[in-house]
Amino acid sequence: MRSGTTVAVNAIKALVLFVENITLNYSADCLKFLVVEKMRYFNNPYDDFSPEAAEGLISSNKLHPDSTVACAVESKWDWTMRKLDHLDFSDNSVYTGTSGIALLKLLKDPNGEQNLKEVKHLLNLRKLKYKRYSFLCGDAGPLAIGAVVCHRLKEKQESEKLIEKLLAMSDSAVNSKSDLPNEYLYGRAGYLYALLYVNKNIHPPPIGNQLIREVIEAIFVCGRTESRLGKFKCPLMYQWHNKQYLGAAHGVSGILYLLLQAKEHLSETELNNFIKPTVDYLADLKYSSGNYPSSLGNDDDKYVQWCHGSPGFVYLFSTAYKVYGDSKYLDLALQAGEVVWKRGLLKKGYSICHGVSGNAYCFLELFQLTQEMKHLYRAIKFTEWCVTYTREHEEYSPDRPASLFEGVGGPMYLLMDIQDPANSKFPGYTL
Ligand SMILES: [Zn+2]
Repeated sequence: MRSGTTVAVNAIKALVLFVENITLNYSADCLKFLVVEKMRYFNNPYDDFSPEAAEGLISSNKLHPDSTVACAVESKWDWTMRKLDHLDFSDNSVYTGTSGIALLKLLKDPNGEQNLKEVKHLLNLRKLKYKRYSFLCGDAGPLAIGAVVCHRLKEKQESEKLIEKLLAMSDSAVNSKSDLPNEYLYGRAGYLYALLYVNKNIHPPPIGNQLIREVIEAIFVCGRTESRLGKFKCPLMYQWHNKQYLGAAHGVSGILYLLLQAKEHLSETELNNFIKPTVDYLADLKYSSGNYPSSLGNDDDKYVQWCHGSPGFVYLFSTAYKVYGDSKYLDLALQAGEVVWKRGLLKKGYSICHGVSGNAYCFLELFQLTQEMKHLYRAIKFTEWCVTYTREHEEYSPDRPASLFEGVGGPMYLLMDIQDPANSKFPGYTL
């Protein structure tokens, strides 16, 4: 390292130490500007919902046709496609690879023959490794999407062949003693999503209830064992890399959300004696700020993004309200949404996984739950942030910019999805 650079780095380190010391020793109010420096999010510059603020944005429970967000679809689509010109075909995952872009194209045109052929090409089904199992990061994603696409292309035999391959991966998923984790991003809950996705999109549902039950039972066995061994005060607990994560991607809230979406496959005992008390246990972990820890025992209240923190809890509590009908879950979902509105314009960027477009989906979930225009308005404002995105909004550039979960595919997916807000769904997570 050159000496000039070293001096500069040391000066920055000294400044950081200075800032940390004074923020520890002096009142937060008089040093607000310094604290803002350390924040992971931009202060939300938008007025909150009022009929006046929503004028020109919302009309008849939808986007106003002349609004920025409604008008941006075409130009942003072309811009996004240019960014995706040089896709890396060595990664065919939904999360960072070509299958995520396949989902994006499928949202734009779900039935057109030519588009379906292009989507199939993007799945790169010859590239499967049969090592990873989840929808987002494993082979289960391309296989499940491929089965649906071939079905729509009337390639019945190929669709069945892909479903067979998906089912052939079930050994680890149904065996609670295998080393497959249970979390959503890489684990059993992610495999469960792939099965449910196929059944939701092909009629009649081709995957039998028995396999779905076996995967669910393995998730329950693992959760009950972990809870018993760790003497946790809730019936279900899960760990990933020796930590009890709680968020959507790696944690308990994501696993429970998947289970609740598979409600028709659950027994009354599982719903009321295992899941419900665990949801209540998670609710009690809420920080005084309204946010939630990323893992058990973690006091660092810093993440407000789909993968960690309150956004994931919006989906869990919203679905718990639909399943149990208890208004305390509605209140919890709304409170988690307030945190996202306040702290959700992230400096990390626009991504679906840990950025603003992912956070916007919380408001679409709450809009669908409550039918209140406030939540649609908030979703529109977060989408507007993504659409009018500039370098000033981004402190970190994404590792994989040509992807659905980390890159430009995410905000584009949101932008198209919000055009029909009553039916929008967080990609690869909400069925
Ligand atoms: Zn993330």
